Amino acid sequence: MKNISILGSTGSIGSQTLDIVRANEDLNVVAMAAGSNIKKLEEQIREFHPEIVCVFAKEIAGKLKISVADMNVKIVSGMEGLIETAVYDKADIVVTAFVGMIGIRPTLEAIRAGKDIALANKETLVTAGHLVMKSARDYGVKILPVDSEHSAVFQSLNGENKKEIDKILLTASGGPFRGMTRAQMKNVTVEDALKHPNWTMGRKITIDSATMVNKGLEVIEAKWLFDVALEDIQVVVQPQSLIHSMVQFKDGAIMAQLGTPDMRLPIQYALYYPERRDLQGERVDFGKLAKITFENPDMENFRGLKLAYEAAKQGGSMTTVFNAANEKAVEKFLKREIGFLDITDIIEYCMEHHNIVNHPTVEQILEVEQWTYEQIKTYK
Ligand code: NDP
Repeated sequence: MKNISILGSTGSIGSQTLDIVRANEDLNVVAMAAGSNIKKLEEQIREFHPEIVCVFAKEIAGKLKISVADMNVKIVSGMEGLIETAVYDKADIVVTAFVGMIGIRPTLEAIRAGKDIALANKETLVTAGHLVMKSARDYGVKILPVDSEHSAVFQSLNGENKKEIDKILLTASGGPFRGMTRAQMKNVTVEDALKHPNWTMGRKITIDSATMVNKGLEVIEAKWLFDVALEDIQVVVQPQSLIHSMVQFKDGAIMAQLGTPDMRLPIQYALYYPERRDLQGERVDFGKLAKITFENPDMENFRGLKLAYEAAKQGGSMTTVFNAANEKAVEKFLKREIGFLDITDIIEYCMEHHNIVNHPTVEQILEVEQWTYEQIKTYK
C-alpha cells in the first residue's frame, strides 16, 4: 500500500490524482489540502477517508469541521495547517498540486520530512528551484515531475546518462492564439483565452498557456529538474500536443514520449515510478493521424516566453518577480480588470524595476513576491 498526500486535491491535477487512486486499490489517501472549496473537500473526505485535511481559508475551516464531525478526520487551516498536512508522517509521497507560490513552504517542509514529491506546482520550482533541488539532494528524496512535458523528458531519460544530453526540446501547443499578432490579441476576452485547443486544466494555467508564460515557467522548471543550461532548452511548437517533449543526445539521437493529451498518465507515472501500470483511456491511432506539424515559437508576439528566458538568465529573485507579476496579472485579467496584453506588459514592467537578490532565502522570495505586488500598483 502506498500512502499519499494531495496538496490541492480539489483542483484539476488533484481531482485527476484521485481518479488514479479510485482505479488502484494499493493507493491510499492519508492527507489532503485545498484553498476554500469545502463542498468538494467534504465529498472527497467521504469518499477517500483521509486522516488530516487542511482548508487554507481559516474562516471556513470551522464549517468543514462541523459538516464532517461524523468522520474520523482532523481539520486544520492556514499555512501551519498546510505544512502539517505536507509533513503528515504516514505519507510516502506528496502530490504538490497547489496553484501558485503558496506551495513553496509546504513543499520544502515535505522534502525536509523525507517525502518523495510528485511535483505539479511549477511556481514553487520557478521561484525556489535552488532551494528545492538542494533540499531534495540533502534529504535524499525524489522530485518526480507531473507536468506532462517534464514527465516526457523524465521518461525519455530512462536508462540514459544525463551527462550525454545535448538539448531538451520542450513542446508547446502554442495555445488558442497561435499565429496571432499582438494587435490581433489586443481585445481577446477571458472566454477566448480559456479555450485551450487540447488540454482541460485549471484557469490560471490555461491563461498561462494562452500568453505562453506557461512555456516560460516550464523552461525554468526544466532547468532545475534536469540541471541543464538555459541555452540547451529549446521550445518547439507542436500544435497537436502528441509529442509531450523530447531529449536530444550528444550523438544526435532524439528520444520522445508521445501519447494522447491525458494528465492521468504523468500523474500515475510519478506515483508508481519506475513501474508502469494499466491506464484506461484513448490511445494514439497513427492510422488516423492526419498530420503532425512543427513551428518555432513566436517570441515577439508572445513575450511571456522571451521574458521567462530573460528572467532565468538574470537569475536570483528575478524569476520570482516574473512569476509573482504573472500570478497577480492573471488574477486581474480573470476579474476583467486588465486586458490580455497587459499580463506580459506588467511582468516586463516589474522586471525592469527590480534589483536582483542573488540566492534568495524563502523569506527573501516571499518579500520579493510582496514587492512585486506593490510594484504592480504603480503600473500605468
Ligand atoms: P486548479 O486551479 O485547478 O487547482 C488549484 C488547487 O490549489 C485547488 O485545489 C485549490 O483549492 C488549491 N489552492 C489554491 N489556493 C490555495 C491556497 N491558498 N491554499 C491551499 N490550496 C490552494 O489548478 P491546476 O490543478 O490546473 O494546477 C495546479 C498546479 O499544477 C499549477 O502549478 C499548474 O501550473 C500545474 N499543472 C497543471 C496542469 C493541469 O493539467 N491542470 C498540467 C501541468 C501542471 P480550491 O479549489 O479550494 O481553490
